[in-house]
Amino acid sequence: MAKAEIGVIGLGVMGANLALNIADNGYHVAVYNRTTSRTDEFAASAGELADRVTACATLEEFVAAIKPPRPVIIMVKAGAPVDEQIAALQPLLEANDIIIDAGNANFRDTMRRFTDLEGSGLTFIGMGVSGGEEGARHGPSIMVGGAEAAWKRVEPVLTAISAKYEGEACAAWLGENGAGHFVKTIHNGIEYADMQMIAEVYGVMRDHLGMDAPSIAAVFSAWSTGPLDSYLIDITAEVLKVSDVVSNRPIVDIIVDAAGQKGTGRWAVIESQMMGVPATAIEAAVAARSLSAMRAERKNAQVRFGLPPQQARREGQQVIDDLEKALLAGKVAAYAQGFAVMTAASAEFDWKLPMATTARIWRAGCIIRSRFLDEIATAFTDTPDVANLAMTPAFSKIIEETDGSLRRIVSESVLNGLPVPALASAVSYFDTYRRERGTANLIQAQRDFFGAHGFERFDADGAHHGPWGGEQG
Ligand code: NDP
Repeated sequence: MAKAEIGVIGLGVMGANLALNIADNGYHVAVYNRTTSRTDEFAASAGELADRVTACATLEEFVAAIKPPRPVIIMVKAGAPVDEQIAALQPLLEANDIIIDAGNANFRDTMRRFTDLEGSGLTFIGMGVSGGEEGARHGPSIMVGGAEAAWKRVEPVLTAISAKYEGEACAAWLGENGAGHFVKTIHNGIEYADMQMIAEVYGVMRDHLGMDAPSIAAVFSAWSTGPLDSYLIDITAEVLKVSDVVSNRPIVDIIVDAAGQKGTGRWAVIESQMMGVPATAIEAAVAARSLSAMRAERKNAQVRFGLPPQQARREGQQVIDDLEKALLAGKVAAYAQGFAVMTAASAEFDWKLPMATTARIWRAGCIIRSRFLDEIATAFTDTPDVANLAMTPAFSKIIEETDGSLRRIVSESVLNGLPVPALASAVSYFDTYRRERGTANLIQAQRDFFGAHGFERFDADGAHHGPWGGEQG
């Protein structure tokens, strides 16, 4: 059998589908999985692609099956398993072979791996992949970090397997070392915010308007033809329509209201905090998932406090129209924050992250894919150095058009005791961002009072101290 052009290690959900995608695109792929039975199952299920797949039982066999210089994609559980795989591969590989970690690595681990492999003769790439099972099989969004020359060597296969938006590949080189995994982390942070805001809007329809799941599904379906058109809105409409086969009730009414998380949203928040860039919508979304998991405590608190009395409500369609605009406004805040974090990281790590390209490769394949991202790509192309997405003409206009709706939804929700933490964070973010005269003068006075930290004055240069306790500063 001819040698493979590329290898994939890890035949879990993502690796198996990525390998089939590669074979489907005409490449010969060698595969290996720690548990051999999984490799056998994969080989047996490859169907008509089987003649382009070499299933290997050992790493030695796997490496020998690939034509040098070998591109090897590792798609295993993130963390220590990736280090173990690299350590096991290293003695078997030759100079110029490329190891590509395609899992959800913490970009700081990716940076360390670049350093560890320096001088080894091997090339390393940290690659973010988004799109879940379907994306991996039929075209994910691919975010590459590493040396540009290494990207050039694997560009043909990665662009071939990636999603396409109007014919354009959703795969790109974004910068050196950890750039690809950093961008994937922010992608996931934005995904958390997007999902949380959709859940908040669903909560208003369910608990304030008293709508059932199929009626809410119809609203999301209608929205999917407007400015909110996106994969997440589409799947929300889909899942709300599905009935449970056992109880015959809407399946969402049977699913426990405690969300899981694997950590990428939390990493996005940690990194934004490390850089001093607010990502309040992502923070609210991560915190909301954590609060959702505290089911027993929430139950006790409801017994103790009850729920606030419901206020008179507006006509249902008025609320629904406002919800659509509020969701759009919230999205603008989340994306503006996510892109601002990437701008700061780009400067801090000297990556020169291309914002328009990032938005472009998120337009298809990934979980947050949407029409909205095409508008973001255009906004960053037209105004590449803008400080905040909110300040681009197109997004300033959206903010103006949706501002009233966001305020009404947040204030009505607060009055009715409906939690809308991500949408509320969006209002506060805009209100703080656009107000020239803030309230941090008082914080500076407090800091100087207890810690002699000093402050600046409007009417004089230099650092000053207050006349606290009667002393002149
Ligand atoms: P699965 O749980 O389906 O598969 C895990 C894979 O990792 C298996 O091949 C498993 O091998 C392997 N593995 C686990 N521990 C080790 C180890 N110590 N040494 C060697 N191999 C090991 O995971 P996914 O395919 O979902 O995820 C793979 C990566 O892709 C993760 O980093 C994940 O975060 C990321 N990802 C996942 C997405 C998704 O939607 N699922 C989307 C985007 C990225 P074995 O069969 O021997 O247990």
